[in-house]
Amino acid sequence: MKKLIFLSLSIFAILAFTNSKTFSTTNAINSDSTEYCIVCADKIEGSGIKYKYLNKEVKFCCEECGQAFKKNPAKYLESGGIPCPVCNEDDTKKDLSFMNKGVKYYFCGKGCKTKFGKDPEAYLKNYRK
Ligand SMILES: [Zn+2]
Ligand SMILES: [Zn+2]
Repeated sequence: MKKLIFLSLSIFAILAFTNSKTFSTTNAINSDSTEYCIVCADKIEGSGIKYKYLNKEVKFCCEECGQAFKKNPAKYLESGGIPCPVCNEDDTKKDLSFMNKGVKYYFCGKGCKTKFGKDPEAYLKNYRK
């Protein structure tokens, strides 16, 4: 009889141990690898779509969200965090923008916008190193 009590007690202990273990591993997975699309805020399944906008790497769940971002990056990025592709100044203005190959860029001043407009690729090359 004593043996039986001991056995059921150890089974209890094992169960409790495995339960808490699986619990903590799932938590760790969630906080480490779950990423959300910056456009629609949906969970990104698998590797998603990566895109490098100037110096920032952004991630989307699908191609459509990527297109939405490229047309209007300022809508999805923190304000003040978008650099001017000409002088690297972070103080860009939303109304000073230029579309190049379907991607919108913002500038700190009219001078930078004009410079960029003459040769966008030359300035963007600096960000693709
Ligand atoms: Zn999305
Ligand atoms: Zn500038």
